[in-house]
Amino acid sequence: MPPKPQRTKRLPVYRNAGFLFDTIGEAADVFAKEEEYPQSADRFSYSRYGNPNVAETEELLAEMEGSEWAVLTGSGMAAIDTALSVFQRGENTGHWLFFSELYGGTNDYIENVLISRRGIKITRFHPEEGEERYDLDRLEDLLDRVEPSLLYFEPVTNPLLIVSDGGRIIEMAKERGVAVIVDNTFATSRLWRPLEHGADIVVHSATKYLGGHGNLTAGVVCGNDSGIRKDAMLYRKYVGNTLNADDAYRLNTQSRTFPLRFAAQCENASRLAAAMSDHPAVDRVRYPGLRTHPTHDEAAKTFEGRGYGAMINVDFKGGRAAADSFVEAVSDTISYVPTLGDPTTIMLHVATVWGEQRFPYPGMLRISVGFEPYDQLEAGVLQALDQVAGMV
Ligand code: PLP
Repeated sequence: MPPKPQRTKRLPVYRNAGFLFDTIGEAADVFAKEEEYPQSADRFSYSRYGNPNVAETEELLAEMEGSEWAVLTGSGMAAIDTALSVFQRGENTGHWLFFSELYGGTNDYIENVLISRRGIKITRFHPEEGEERYDLDRLEDLLDRVEPSLLYFEPVTNPLLIVSDGGRIIEMAKERGVAVIVDNTFATSRLWRPLEHGADIVVHSATKYLGGHGNLTAGVVCGNDSGIRKDAMLYRKYVGNTLNADDAYRLNTQSRTFPLRFAAQCENASRLAAAMSDHPAVDRVRYPGLRTHPTHDEAAKTFEGRGYGAMINVDFKGGRAAADSFVEAVSDTISYVPTLGDPTTIMLHVATVWGEQRFPYPGMLRISVGFEPYDQLEAGVLQALDQVAGMV
């Protein structure tokens, strides 16, 4: 005899592609409700349309974000694609305005999907030549000149960690009736909540801090407007961008510790940034919490003391050779892994990952700080820095 389903605190993982119905009428009823508004029935029919683990985790993430709803996708890029596609209207799409400093994959997507394949008209908003901050008076001029239908930005950029006054940006866009999408992966809902300032959509790569353990790939689209939610769910169903049940289950478990993890990561990052910036091997540390950071004021205003994030950017005096020797010397303490938001501190070399042309800094590393015991982390890093400086 097969065992009976057991009572558990967590929902079991529903890996089924399709769900069981007893009658044609029962199935027809669920399909009709699904047509009317996706996932409006308390029954599920097919996992690409909706899945219990995905739906349960969406509720949890919406609560954490302070949003009316959340829609989970198979990756951060799928979340970005879903969020943007909701606003695509064929010939009537209008002009879209993107900040220039975005995650490299998003920039690739803009070039190779939005522009090359979909023919969307796009303008970029750049910091002034040689500046590492956005001049929002120039943004205001650009909004008036381009008259975009949509604005997209990241409040903390990668890898230079430029923070912008997100509240003012959204306000300027909304005064002009421009839709706003914010990729809040680096800041997270703990530092800043763009929906409270009037953004239409917030996206996260949940692969990073929300998942937090480097063991799943997921994305989430959050918002308050039920029409946008319906469009996002329908788009996800049409293109099959949905998250799988296993990763939804893992994300559900792991995201519950996100506030604790991220607080510890921000604290470690803040201490490590200060410790590294005083070392003779280091030319410059970029960390928004340091007073020397070009957008420290924007970060203080936007994050209101909740923290300054858990990413550090460090540039070595000795260029590429010094970066190479640091990576080798610190390998017992920091691993070289191309992601961010993991439990332990990990790093990447900026020029070889995002291109020397865009980032002509051969000695620059981007460090994602973990929540390991701080003293251990600092001791390993300072010892490696001493080696780089030829002190030992
Ligand atoms: N947005 C940001 C800011 C990212 O850093 C990343 C990935 O690094 C993404 C989006 C894409 O996320 P995923 O790799 O989960 O597709």
